[in-house]
Amino acid sequence: ATPTAIMVGTGLGAKRGVLFKTATALETSARIDTVVLDKTGTLTKGEPEVTDFIAVEIAEVELLALVAAVERESEHPLAAAVVSYAVGRGAQPLEATAFRNVPGHGAGARVAGHQVFVGNRKLMVTQGIDIDPVAAQRQTLAATGRTAVLVAVDGKAVGVIALADAVRETAATAVATLHETGIKVVMLTGDNEATAQRIASMLQIDSVIAEVLPEDKAAKIKELQASGKRVAMVGDGVNDAPALAQADLGIAIGAGTDVAIDTADVVLMRSDPLDVSVALRIGKGTVRKMR
Ligand code: ADP
Ligand code: MG
Repeated sequence: ATPTAIMVGTGLGAKRGVLFKTATALETSARIDTVVLDKTGTLTKGEPEVTDFIAVEIAEVELLALVAAVERESEHPLAAAVVSYAVGRGAQPLEATAFRNVPGHGAGARVAGHQVFVGNRKLMVTQGIDIDPVAAQRQTLAATGRTAVLVAVDGKAVGVIALADAVRETAATAVATLHETGIKVVMLTGDNEATAQRIASMLQIDSVIAEVLPEDKAAKIKELQASGKRVAMVGDGVNDAPALAQADLGIAIGAGTDVAIDTADVVLMRSDPLDVSVALRIGKGTVRKMR
């Protein structure tokens, strides 16, 4: 690589808020054929809000208070949204004990003498809870692209909480621009299948890998690489870091967590998914100059 081409590429990137950490990152950008995007916080703004709260065979105010007590102990972005909704509805503050966070699944605690779990279908399954009483509501809400979270009290599924997270304004254009240069676009998310499929189809994303546990995201990247793809992974979260490291090119959203930014090869300072194609284009320009 000629130092001049690298300097020009790095400078061009910096001007557009695309930070290449190394010369290798620039060169690798030129050879990417598959872009994998995390959903929450990458394609979406990562600011979820509760849109629906459904209580089955329990008073809504009572369920709100139980759920809020658990979620107050969690650091998950969905938890913060649930707590602020409950506070807005005047839920009574209750104390949670024996709080347990289950990464990629949800959380549980004891509240006012009850065992409460809040999380996805996998969490309920591992707790041996039958989700049939809320399955229809869950499916209807997820089909709209919202994240549907389940609530169980004393071993019974009694609630569904729907959360909406707005898609970033440029997400669809970002996907279209990648397609124009022949790049395959994949969504990788811990969220449920129906929610992920809905958002992917709105954005014309080629394929979806959903309900992936945080510790399995890197393995999914490895599988794509094993099938011959040169993969760029774009993410913002702590749970994206191993996948960012595994990918041929790790790209972090600037507004993301420190771990993601530290692990990535490229940082998008404007947190704009459109800048993924800017990065790849600068890489191609640099490599062309090198020859
Ligand atoms: P993502 O990859 O979408 O950022 P995570 O891997 O952190 O998500 O979590 C996957 C899923 O687990 C979430 O979509 C949600 O359904 C559930 N979940 C995790 N933590 C919580 C929580 N504190 N409250 C409610 N649901 C949760
Ligand atoms: Mg994310």
